[in-house]
Amino acid sequence: MKIPINLKKRANNYYIVFTEDVKNSLLKDFKGYGRYVIITDSNVNKSYSKLLGVIKKSLGAELVIIPSGERSKNSAMKGKIENLMLKKGCSRDTLIVCVGGGVVGDLAGFVAATFCRGIDYVQVPTTLLAMVDSSIGGKVAIDTPYGKNLIGAFHQPKKVYVNIAFLKTLPEKEIRNGISEIIKYGIIADKTLFEFLEKNCNDVMNLERDALTYIISRSCRIKKMVVEKDEKEENLRKVLNFGHTIGHAVELSSNYKTAHGEAVSIGMFYESRISERWGLLTDKEAKRIETLIMKFGLPAKRRLNGKEIIKFTKADKKARGGYAHYALPAGIGKMNKSNGKYAFPIPDKVVMEALKDG
Ligand code: NAD
Repeated sequence: MKIPINLKKRANNYYIVFTEDVKNSLLKDFKGYGRYVIITDSNVNKSYSKLLGVIKKSLGAELVIIPSGERSKNSAMKGKIENLMLKKGCSRDTLIVCVGGGVVGDLAGFVAATFCRGIDYVQVPTTLLAMVDSSIGGKVAIDTPYGKNLIGAFHQPKKVYVNIAFLKTLPEKEIRNGISEIIKYGIIADKTLFEFLEKNCNDVMNLERDALTYIISRSCRIKKMVVEKDEKEENLRKVLNFGHTIGHAVELSSNYKTAHGEAVSIGMFYESRISERWGLLTDKEAKRIETLIMKFGLPAKRRLNGKEIIKFTKADKKARGGYAHYALPAGIGKMNKSNGKYAFPIPDKVVMEALKDG
């Protein structure tokens, strides 16, 4: 299966390719580069050292292994990789191959965005979240002490290779993290996907191949549709932030102890309740969202400090004029558009009341 991503600038177009043979796909599709650099993390290297070794040998590549975890996504690590690449003689004709989750993809993609003013890179996502979200769309970034993803760029990959076999070694907690984003896709754009998740929770959590292929490919197609229409997040792309306005505030208020996917599921629950109070979603639909979140073992309600959450939502880089902007569903599979805009400010009072629903 191949899903094309067609962007305004045709030179930026690429494919998401579902393959069981990443090594041979890479060898076939990316011949002729001067140098190759594979960037991965310590956990992925532990589980896939043999595969990485074979790819390294076949391409004659450098293998860079960063410590796993969000803490690696910073300017110091970026500088370290760049210096190593310069030392090894990498230049404009170098290809970076990112093999890992969103941390590796964001960091190595950002290295590619600025190295020699921009070089090619390929995404090989190994987490569910990276397969359906972070590897697609060209947003690459690092974190700073002032917040997550504050320094970054839009730099599209040359290809994304999805091999669902990588998920066999992924801890269940990380599978749930990805499921949270997939539930989001169902709510914002695809009622059939939402219903599939309602009916096939066990198959999905047992990593049953057909179920996984269906939910991952549907999610990729939704991200494709959104990114193609609004590459730089001027309007429509904001629908992908559903659950993330409150979600990011929950992450921040827990000092990042709450996992991203869990923060997003909590965010989706409360933002559904905001949507209901705003007259967009029925109580029945909001309950259906809550039930699906919980069916997958993700959290919905949580005791939150409403004032703190509202303060953090306003500090988010997506806030405008001191107000957080919310992209809210107007039904399952449908996002609200008001005066042509998908995201808009909601009064603190309404957010506060919804936060009390927990
Ligand atoms: P991650 O990259 O930290 O991976 C999660 C954990 O799983 C890590 O410990 C990793 O080492 C391990 N792992 C990865 N693949 C594995 C495998 N196949 N088997 C065993 N272990 C494996 O986290 P993530 O959830 O993939 O990504 C989160 C990051 O993505 C965040 O930094 C977030 O900001 C970013 N993100 C970016 C975008 C975007 O559009 N660029 C979108 C969403 C999220």
